Amino acid sequence: MIRGNPQLPAVTLYDLHSHTTASDGYLTSKQLVRRAVEMNVSVLAITDHDTTDGLAAAAEFIGMLRLPLQLVNGVEISTLWQNNEIHIIGLGIDAKATPIVQLLIEQNARRMLRAEKISQCLVQVGIKDAYNGVRLLAAGGSITRGHFARYLMQIGVAKNIKHAFKKYLVKGNFSYIKPEWCSIKQAIDVIHKSGGQAVLAHPASYNLISSQLNSLFAYFAEHGGDVIEVAQCHQSSDERSQLAKYALEYQLLASQGSDFHRPCTQIELGYKLQLPYNIKPIWHNWTKDIM
Ligand code: AMP
Ligand code: MN
Ligand code: MN
Ligand code: MN
Repeated sequence: MIRGNPQLPAVTLYDLHSHTTASDGYLTSKQLVRRAVEMNVSVLAITDHDTTDGLAAAAEFIGMLRLPLQLVNGVEISTLWQNNEIHIIGLGIDAKATPIVQLLIEQNARRMLRAEKISQCLVQVGIKDAYNGVRLLAAGGSITRGHFARYLMQIGVAKNIKHAFKKYLVKGNFSYIKPEWCSIKQAIDVIHKSGGQAVLAHPASYNLISSQLNSLFAYFAEHGGDVIEVAQCHQSSDERSQLAKYALEYQLLASQGSDFHRPCTQIELGYKLQLPYNIKPIWHNWTKDIM
């Protein structure tokens, strides 16, 4: 599939998880694809939170400058499973397909409602204008807790993003609002109906104990899920091999992605992404059509 393109480097480096300013990324689509090329990534998926709005500008820019980069249409859908927020990535979707367009409209309405509720909680501790603040920061894109964290830093009530999450935004906090996301099953069905493959994102990041993680993989596989995100740049080698074992056990394919949001020391596009040799990568049967 990619062998035919003389502009692509000999080694194909896949990064199948990244964000732009269409959600909580700090780089525009153009800046992101430029950076991906600088980092020798040859296949990049843009997977913004509950939006596909960053895709068109990226595709257009790659085409216009004839960049040696293949773009995969992606989205990261927030779901609720047993009271946990689980992220399901859709890769290779047709962003104009009715099922995905419809679901993302619903998810967006939920995001707006949650943003209002979080803002109301913050008023109680004297933070008066968070709603307008995060809307300004999101600039028309998906409003996320990442924008709240940035706003809380901006007004000086949090030292950094991590601190803002810990103090205000994580589960158990007074201003954590339980969202009403769609179910995992719904996300998988919509991704399939829109021509994509469903990936369980960063399974190790949900703070689940091993029995819960097994239930999650079983549920995901039973409901038609296709792929586990196995490789991320900032994980331990133990975590990666454990996730690879789960992929084998549940007969799921494997994906890799940086989950890049912004330039920083630990996370970079294409950085330290390699799948263990014994598992089947998501791209094993991809043709150029998916990209
Ligand atoms: P949301 O989808 O609105 O709940 O926002 C989720 C996003 O917030 C994630 O994709 C991360 O980018 C960011 N995030 C979540 N938890 C943390 C945390 N503890 N520290 C820093 N960023 C976080
Ligand atoms: Mn994010
Ligand atoms: Mn995520
Ligand atoms: Mn992500």
